[in-house]
Amino acid sequence: MTVETLIPVAYLIAAVTFILGLKGLSSPTTAVQGNRIAAAGMLIAVIATFFAFDVKGGVPVILAGIAVGGVAGFAGARMVKMTAMPQMVALFNGAGGGAAALVAILEFARHEELDAGVLEVGASLATLLALIIGAVSFSGSAVAFGKLQGLITPKAFRYAGQQLVTGGIAAATALLSLVLLAGAVAGSFAIEPMFLITLITLLALVFGVALVMPIGGADMPVVISLLNAYTGLAVAAAGFTLNNQLLVVAGTLVGASGTILTRLMSKAMNRSLGNVLFGAFGAAPAAGAEAATAGDDGRSIRSIGPEDAAILLSYAQNVIVVPGYGLAVAQAQHSVRELADLLESRGINVKYAIHPVAGRMPGHMNVLLAEANVPYDKLFDMDQINPEFQRADVALVIGANDVTNPAARSNPGSPIYGMPILDVDKAQNIIVIKRSMKPGFAGIDNDLYLDPKTAMLFGDAKDAVGKVVQELKKAT
Ligand code: NAP
Repeated sequence: MTVETLIPVAYLIAAVTFILGLKGLSSPTTAVQGNRIAAAGMLIAVIATFFAFDVKGGVPVILAGIAVGGVAGFAGARMVKMTAMPQMVALFNGAGGGAAALVAILEFARHEELDAGVLEVGASLATLLALIIGAVSFSGSAVAFGKLQGLITPKAFRYAGQQLVTGGIAAATALLSLVLLAGAVAGSFAIEPMFLITLITLLALVFGVALVMPIGGADMPVVISLLNAYTGLAVAAAGFTLNNQLLVVAGTLVGASGTILTRLMSKAMNRSLGNVLFGAFGAAPAAGAEAATAGDDGRSIRSIGPEDAAILLSYAQNVIVVPGYGLAVAQAQHSVRELADLLESRGINVKYAIHPVAGRMPGHMNVLLAEANVPYDKLFDMDQINPEFQRADVALVIGANDVTNPAARSNPGSPIYGMPILDVDKAQNIIVIKRSMKPGFAGIDNDLYLDPKTAMLFGDAKDAVGKVVQELKKAT
């Protein structure tokens, strides 16, 4: 067996591990193992690639690149806080898109050298796609990162005629691409091809910025997922350009999974993708806006202390914990686990209600609770847990807001009307832990807080849950 025959085998093994890895990622119990399997497959793919191409002269440069990227990726992944994960994904994703675009530019340059300006049509099309989609993903992800990191305003940036300008940039990119392809068909170019390619690259970069700037900061996870799908497509196109089957497979997997995830997130927020990209939701006043402390109908909020919360919980038979973004911010997962253990030791039944878009990224709550070793069989999806709220003595809402807002069911004028929510208001008693009456991501008031069954326990989630734990311990 020669090295040449082993390379496709290595690539096949790597492709299978990617699929197994994705399958593993579909459940919290197998996610870590899935990640490891895919990482092992990637290692096999990287090693095989050294033998697949004539890279001898470039080995030191490649190894240096791997060292720099590896150290940066490892350190970044270890240091990043869970709440900053979306911008981390944006950064990595942008790097993938940028890499595909760079491969495309180098391929065009190489062809120019080899063929004295003559480009092959098929290869040019794949390379152009890798260039355009990769560049859009790169600049779009950079803007998404900037918004989420607070480097640029996270609010939706809008101006009159915006869609016309964005459409114009897209049309110009398409037109120049056609000119390039027409030149490739004719075998002669009216405009220098590398000049065309430079213009196309610049326009695609501007298009990425124009696409993401009008989107509100907290809508960014959906956009990042979409950009992730773009990067997958760009990588698959680069695979055609380089005649590398593994890139085609890996890129297609990323493209398909990114598309599915984007769809699922939009659906869970009851928004169409078009509405996320072009709607004004993200422009709504987000966190920071003050909320009313009394309803128009004279209802007012009821505030309680940790002692009363502990009493309410200790008399319960069934408690449903509803975690949200605030739990992630406060890093209260370990305190919540301690509270649940304490309640269970008294024979109280504790379950967790997981909304698909609670937090700021898919699976956010699952990851947090897994970190605190909350058993997976205590985590219930929205559809499973909703019928149980009416039998719950206490629904304990910790840092969740929008995903519990009954306006999504009852107020057709609400921006979140139609979004499936957790039926917290059906519980016998509701305790809400948050710091103030400020709204959540959607920037809207929550009628749940004015419900006579609701008691507000104001404070940082970790601190407040810790105090309730102390009160419960005192009572034993
Ligand atoms: P949310 O509606 O954003 O509300 C979070 C609440 O946590 C806030 O009202 C805030 O109130 C509170 N909070 C913040 N820091 C806290 C702390 N240290 N201690 C205690 N409370 C704290 O969160 P959610 O209910 O989880 O809903 C998620 C929202 O994000 C949805 O609107 C969803 O559509 C959107 N979204 C989710 C994803 C995803 O993939 N998960 C993606 C994009 C958008 P105070 O400031 O008063 O404390």
